[in-house]
Amino acid sequence: MNVAASSALRDARRIVVKVGSSLVTNEGRGLDAAAIGEWCRQLAALVNDGREVVMVSSGAIAEGMKRLGWATRPREVNELQAAAAVGQMGLAQMYETKLRENKLGSAQVLLTHADLADRERYLNARSTLLTLLRLGVVPVINENDTVVNDEIKVGDNDTLGALVANLVEADLLIILTDQHGLYTADPRRDPSATFVHEARAGDPQLEAMAGGAGSSIGKGGMITKILAAKRAAGSGASTVIAWGREPDALVRLAGGEPIGTLLVAQTQKMQARKQWMADHLQMRGAVRVDAGAAIKVRDEGKSLLPIGMTSVDGDFARGDVIAIRDSAGLELARGLANYSSAEARMICRKPSSEFEAVLGYVAEPEMVHRDNLVLTSRALAET
Ligand code: GLU
Repeated sequence: MNVAASSALRDARRIVVKVGSSLVTNEGRGLDAAAIGEWCRQLAALVNDGREVVMVSSGAIAEGMKRLGWATRPREVNELQAAAAVGQMGLAQMYETKLRENKLGSAQVLLTHADLADRERYLNARSTLLTLLRLGVVPVINENDTVVNDEIKVGDNDTLGALVANLVEADLLIILTDQHGLYTADPRRDPSATFVHEARAGDPQLEAMAGGAGSSIGKGGMITKILAAKRAAGSGASTVIAWGREPDALVRLAGGEPIGTLLVAQTQKMQARKQWMADHLQMRGAVRVDAGAAIKVRDEGKSLLPIGMTSVDGDFARGDVIAIRDSAGLELARGLANYSSAEARMICRKPSSEFEAVLGYVAEPEMVHRDNLVLTSRALAET
């Protein structure tokens, strides 16, 4: 493994781990307490090593079916949703118990596609997850299957894992599955198939190698994992696809050991985020800041606080992208606004201790948090 690849593992500070239904539920036989306990033990080792971890776990429908005594997966959407609601209880309880045994707090977060597509909800989900990570609590995420139908579903948790990696700007997405990783072809059918140890995430050849088909228990096949890796790479996260029963897989991976298939992201996190802001988001407005705030944002990497703002232009909502301009009107940075333009006008020049009196509530002390802010390059400022 080359140096860049091994450092993609060793230097990963924020890691999203995704486990699939067939692993979690022992091929649908019921929640595998020993396996879940084992992953939680490893998560604790990672946290003690200074990493932040997020768990994305499938298994709600499979566990719900088991609890309801259903041998075959129902076709009716409402029955699947009912099974998910039943199974999610067991899933949450199991993670709670196993994480607590390893001295870790846990939090259940159920997300839908709409939560990630809507900018305000995206921002809410993001700041909740980042707060949980700051508190050292492990978020355990699943799709909120009970309230989504097929058309609006993320659909499989490989994709959800990638979206979560984008959301929290993870460095690494580890997809644990019942296979060892990716082969160049199906090894059961093609004797010339070889194992792919490492490749570039997003390489179109990988999609051809992965083919179709998932298992009858979970939703995703190898192809969804390859596409998830491509999506995760969009925000700078590399992906590993590895066997979930590989002893100590998470700890060994974090130590830089090559296990499974590593799909390396080509873009740096910061570059990816800038690109994302430039490509996806239209600027809705701007705020002007005083010299002190300009120095803090531009030179010290700090968040923008309302007290440093001198005026608010345009009409924007919480979660919209706004420009931060200096007193001469030059753009310093852009980022996601925590307050709408109407609110921003009310708290402009005010310390956060006064927000409550003015607005009736406090969303965040910052107007734009430094995690949601990218500095505008000189070239951009001059055009
Ligand atoms: N969200 C579904 C569940 O927990 C699983 C989707 C998947 O298998 O990827 O049952």
